[in-house]
Amino acid sequence: MLSMDVDKFSNWLIHRTGKCLVAGPCSVESEEQILGTAKELAPCDVTLLRGGIWKPRTRPGSFEGVGEKGLNWLKAAGRATSLPVATEVAIPAHVEQSLNANIDVLWIGARTTTSPIAVQAIADSLAGIDIPVMIKNPMNPDLGLWIGAIERLRRAGIKRIVAVHRGFSTHIRHQYRNQPLWSIPLALRSQMPEIPILCDPSHICGTQQYIASISDAALEAGLDGLMIESHWRPDAALSDPGQQLSPAQFAELVGQVVRNPNLGVASRNRESDNLWRDIDEIDQDLGELLCKRMSILRQIEADCSRISVKTRTNIDATRLIAAVVKQMLGVGESKPGECDCGYTQTEALSIETRKWLLRSKTSPCGDSVTTERPA
Ligand code: PEP
Ligand code: MN
Repeated sequence: MLSMDVDKFSNWLIHRTGKCLVAGPCSVESEEQILGTAKELAPCDVTLLRGGIWKPRTRPGSFEGVGEKGLNWLKAAGRATSLPVATEVAIPAHVEQSLNANIDVLWIGARTTTSPIAVQAIADSLAGIDIPVMIKNPMNPDLGLWIGAIERLRRAGIKRIVAVHRGFSTHIRHQYRNQPLWSIPLALRSQMPEIPILCDPSHICGTQQYIASISDAALEAGLDGLMIESHWRPDAALSDPGQQLSPAQFAELVGQVVRNPNLGVASRNRESDNLWRDIDEIDQDLGELLCKRMSILRQIEADCSRISVKTRTNIDATRLIAAVVKQMLGVGESKPGECDCGYTQTEALSIETRKWLLRSKTSPCGDSVTTERPA
């Protein structure tokens, strides 16, 4: 069985805190920046220093990484702090240059995991080489692609594989940059229990704001560690400035969620708590989608001289569904509806959606959320 060939995570990269903590800047920017950041991070229980060298950016023209010369800066920062170092590889040339520079751990980024051909090319370039590889989930919520990437690396003979949960991009506007969709990493764990899973709250959140609560949720769910972006001057970072923590903030986070996990949210059932978070997020998305649906119907209504039966039926159907969603979200009530886990966050709804859901019963001519049948 292939899975039996995978080394147990407990034998490597595990810190005395019992968790693997990967930290470092989104991008290596200069020799001084990576060394300065590494020196400030080293006393904070970090197990592995990260730094991006080739940055996959959505649009050309933004900072795309310092390229090959940065590998030596990263390795030197690791040597100075006695930390192993990791970087992202997207093509075989990155693998070759990283191996030449004695980088200790490689990772495959979310955009690359989305492409089986790109993953296979990396796997082929690693055949016969014993190096740990971290595999981030694909951009889109597709467990099969994530598992497929793990399988491709295994078939190339890589034994030390770690999955990294960095959230998923969907078309729905959300408080997170990438929705956590906890059911996906939890499904990965049940299908491949031997694969350690880290959580990357930085790329899930996109801002510093929710990093502690997502880290807490990940460790509460039993994930094996965290990958967190940290930069010695976060505001001046050349990539992902809003989501990077200063080393001092990182140390505080480790103190709160790793060393003293009991300060976190007490959990009766870790996995089902995170699944309830997914349900809450889906309910919020339903509210947003229904509000958008109603506004398009109102536009159709305004454009037509006569209101068609189809438009009328759709408006009424939207109201009916919205009434149920409103109840699930507990909008306008002192406490959330059905969920007793306390995670329902109706404030995460856009103001427009919240107002629309709240305009219930009292305004029969507006987009009221009632269960009345069409006349
Ligand atoms: C990163 O780690 O800086 C990065 C680009 O991550 P992701 O592939 O998760 O977007
Ligand atoms: Mn980044």
